[in-house]
Amino acid sequence: MSYSSDGAAIQNHSFAYARSPDQDASSPPHHPVVVVGAGPVGLSLAIDLAQRGQRVLLLDNDHRLSSGSRAICFAKRTLEIWDRLGVGDAMCAKGVEWNLGKVFFGDDLLYPFNLLPETGHQRPAFINLQQYYAEAYLALRAAELPLIETRWKNSVMSLQQDEPGAEGKVRLEIDTPEGPYPITASHVAACDGSRSPLRAMLGQESTGRVFRDRFLIADVRMQVELPTERWFWFDPPFHRNQSVLLHRQPDNVWRIDFQLGWDADPEEEKKPERIQPRVDAMMQQALGHAVPFELEWASVYTFACQRMQSFKHGRVCFAGDSAHGVSPFGARGANSGVQDAENLAWKLDLVLRGAAPLALLETYASEREFAADENILNSTRATDFITPKSEISRLFRDATLDLARNHPFARRLVNSGRLSVPATLHGSSLNTADRDTFQGQMVPGSPVADGPVEVDGQPCWLLRQLPANGFSALIFDGPQTPALLAMIEIAAEGLVPLKPLVLSASGVAAERFDALPGTLYLLRPDQHVCARWRQASVVDVGAALRRALAVAA
Ligand SMILES: Cc1cc2nc3c(=O)[nH]c(=O)nc-3n(C[C@H](O)[C@H](O)[C@H](O)COP(=O)(O)OP(=O)(O)OC[C@H]3O[C@@H](n4cnc5c(N)ncnc54)[C@H](O)[C@@H]3O)c2cc1C
Repeated sequence: MSYSSDGAAIQNHSFAYARSPDQDASSPPHHPVVVVGAGPVGLSLAIDLAQRGQRVLLLDNDHRLSSGSRAICFAKRTLEIWDRLGVGDAMCAKGVEWNLGKVFFGDDLLYPFNLLPETGHQRPAFINLQQYYAEAYLALRAAELPLIETRWKNSVMSLQQDEPGAEGKVRLEIDTPEGPYPITASHVAACDGSRSPLRAMLGQESTGRVFRDRFLIADVRMQVELPTERWFWFDPPFHRNQSVLLHRQPDNVWRIDFQLGWDADPEEEKKPERIQPRVDAMMQQALGHAVPFELEWASVYTFACQRMQSFKHGRVCFAGDSAHGVSPFGARGANSGVQDAENLAWKLDLVLRGAAPLALLETYASEREFAADENILNSTRATDFITPKSEISRLFRDATLDLARNHPFARRLVNSGRLSVPATLHGSSLNTADRDTFQGQMVPGSPVADGPVEVDGQPCWLLRQLPANGFSALIFDGPQTPALLAMIEIAAEGLVPLKPLVLSASGVAAERFDALPGTLYLLRPDQHVCARWRQASVVDVGAALRRALAVAA
């Protein structure tokens, strides 16, 4: 398998099981950090930890990448994280980029939308890319990093941990085709998916709302001249009283989601003879004629919005689908899971180095539980709007859609799935926000916005210039128009000046930072703002850094 492999080669690829010396050890070998699950979240986390210099053992009970059709929409923030992990370019080169969409009601176009009307960003609002490609590029990147050891067909069967304490350990029993073996770990990241065996091993559960509706996914290969946009139909003439969603994917594959209702028979609906007339009728509506197609994949899904009460149990942190689940509308599953991974990676790294107390990991749980609640709220609202649960809610929903035909204010109430944006970690204990008097959205807790800059006279992007691992400070100054005076990495060895940057003449970046002469932004290793000042002192910055490391005052 390589970065140029096609979809079939990737889906058929199987990773070899290899016997590890741990299986012949006389006592359980110890690992600083074990990541369980090589899905998009576990792979992203393992890469991030290894790039920060941590030795990682990555275990997966399978030997293949994601099969069938799962995630396709990967959001701007996820791409920015993957840029830092060295795979963003591969994802974007293969994926199809999109910012635009259309919402239809019945026969009519209600309104078009643009998810990224602002210019001056390197990455689009979204790319569409089959999950198996995304996992393949992550697996290839992981294989490039000597600090990651991936063991396929290694299934965690049991897990026990010592009472909480600085020297505590987690004991894992792992099953393989050649029998079981034990290991110990200082920290475990459970990225083992929605059914999470590790969650059950710790006696935990995910609770929330299970929805009574079914959707058919049909991935079809066809040559059509349609724009690369998200198209969503409420109650179209070709699929009365239900909704339909259309997305372009790479390789001339199109994802169509047909709402079926709870009473639909999943086995019947997956049959090609049932799918053919549905797709023909949709293409008739979209293009005025049916198009020959090949059915690549069909499945029927149901969904739930739920989460674990706490994402951290002793030395085990849960990330991705093991910790939380949402409906697919809004593309929040893998996208939020990759943000979990990024949040956990820098904190685990600093704790493992002894540069931060164990308490920093508690903030992984509180920050990402907050983000999960936001995702669950958005996903639940979208699901309620798309699949009204009573005649009265349907009447209200349809009245809103009718209004939206001519009244822009009503369009804000239409919810065909508010698409994934990163959480702003309002109220995080790691923020210093008490004296914040700035305009704009880059409040403490928010991810830093990208913008055009120049290095050595060459145009490039701000996020690409931030240090890969440490805290950093952006200092603006200038007599009238503020310029980015310095970018400094705050590392264990002290302050490291980074390459001088020049904000592009467009002024976009300066505006996003609401910069005045003297402005200083302090950024966390995951590119989130943790503090900003109009005029900062060394004492201010020191105190904010201690706070961002969860060091008690
Ligand atoms: C129809 C559909 C459409 C979706 N669309 C989108 C979308 O457009 N955008 C988006 O962001 N998300 C989407 N999602 C959600 C997305 O697919 C998931 O959120 C994502 O796969 C979660 O990744 P993960 O790494 O947490 O878990 P998984 O991908 O489930 O990976 C878990 C891994 O853990 C391994 N494992 C399990 N148990 C063990 C064990 N005991 N020992 C070792 N390994 C173990 C498994 O083999 C697996 O490899 C969609 C989901 C569906 C079903």
